[in-house]
Amino acid sequence: MAADAPLPVAPAAVEPGGTVGVLGGGQLGRMLAVAAARLGLRTHIYCPQEDAPARDVAAATTIASYTDEDALARFAAAVDVVTYEFENVPVEAAALLGRAGALVRPGAKALEKAQDRLHEKDFINAVGARTAAYHAVDDLASLEAGLAAVGRPAILKTRRLGYDGKGQTRLADDERDLPGAYRKAIEHAWAEVGAAPSILEGFVPFEREISVIGARGADGAVALYDPAENVHRDGILKTSAAPAAAAPGALDAARAVTADLLRALDYVGVIGVEFFVLKDGAVIVNEFAPRVHNSGHWTLDVCAVSQFEQHIRAVAGWPLGDPARHADAVMENLIGEEVGAWRAFAAEARTCVHLYGKKDARPGRKMGHVTRISPRRA
Ligand code: AMP
Repeated sequence: MAADAPLPVAPAAVEPGGTVGVLGGGQLGRMLAVAAARLGLRTHIYCPQEDAPARDVAAATTIASYTDEDALARFAAAVDVVTYEFENVPVEAAALLGRAGALVRPGAKALEKAQDRLHEKDFINAVGARTAAYHAVDDLASLEAGLAAVGRPAILKTRRLGYDGKGQTRLADDERDLPGAYRKAIEHAWAEVGAAPSILEGFVPFEREISVIGARGADGAVALYDPAENVHRDGILKTSAAPAAAAPGALDAARAVTADLLRALDYVGVIGVEFFVLKDGAVIVNEFAPRVHNSGHWTLDVCAVSQFEQHIRAVAGWPLGDPARHADAVMENLIGEEVGAWRAFAAEARTCVHLYGKKDARPGRKMGHVTRISPRRA
C-alpha cells in the first residue's frame, strides 16, 4: 500500500440485536454464545450433532453437516457474521459461506494454515518465529530421511486432524542397538499415524509450556492477554496458570510472536498460540489455534474482558476490550469422571465452576473446568 493511501475501512459493526453465526457446537461455542448474549447479540450455532453443548444457550441452531450446501446457504442468509469454534471446519464450507455473501472471521487463510501442520510450520518460520526442526513424511523412506535430519527422540504427527495429542507418536532413541528394533520402531510409528501424510518433529527439551491468547480487531488493533503456563496430562491440557513463571524476556518474546502472527494472517478474532520455553529463555512455537483456546478459559474469571467476549467483539467489528488481568488464576480442566466432584468444587472458596452440560462423562472428554483465583502478585 502506498504511504498516503487511506487506511482500510473496517466493515460495519454487527449492532446489538444482530446475530453471530458459529460453526461448531462444543463448549467453546457455548461460552462464545454466553459472551455474545451479554453484549445484546444473538448466536446461531451450526453443527452436525444433536446434543451439542452450545445449543442450550443459543438463540437458534442448525443441525446439518458441514458439506450441506443448502443448509450453509440458509445459515449465511440468517446471520450477520460467521465465525468458528473449532479449526477443522472444512475450508470448502467457509468458502461456500463466503460465496453466499457471509462475512467469515477469522478468514480462510488462518483456517488453511492451522489445518495442516506442515503449512503451519512453514508459515510460522516465514513470519520469523522459531519452530521445532521438522521434516515432511509421506512414506517410510521420508520418515527415515526425517530421522536423519531432525535426530531422535522425535515426534511423528499427522499433518491434518490431530488434536489433544491424538494422531501422534514418539520415536525414542533407546532401541538403536537392538537388532531389527530400529526398523520395527519406524514401521510401528508409521502405522500409528495411519500411514497418513505427516511431519516429523525434533523433540524440544522445553523447560515449560506457555500460551498467549491474542486478538486482532477489524480495525487492525491488537490486544494480548498475559501468557499462561500450561501442564498437559496424557496429551490433554490439565492446568493453565496465569501469570506464567517464565523469564520476562520469554514472555515478551511470546507476546511479540503472537502479534506478528495476527498481523501476518490478516486476522480478525481471537487466536491461541502455544509455545515451548527453553532453559535459555528462547521461545519456540508449537502450534496455533484460530479460535478461542482452552488455555484462555481463566480470562472468564479474572480479566475485564474474557477471550470469549473479545472474540465476539472482534468478529462483530466492535472495539477490542481491555485484556488486563486483575487477579492470579489457575484453571483446571475437569476431564471424564472428574466432573462428578462438582459439588465439592462448588463449595470451594475463590473457585469458579464452569460445567458444559455434557451428559456422558467419557474418558478424556472435557466436561467442565474450575478456575481458582488468588490476589494478584505481579
Ligand atoms: P500438540 O498436539 O502438537 O499440541 O502436542 C501435544 C503436547 O505434546 C504438547 O503440548 C507437548 O507437551 C508435547 N509435544 C508436542 N510436540 C513436541 C515437540 N516437538 N517436542 C516436545 N514435546 C512436544
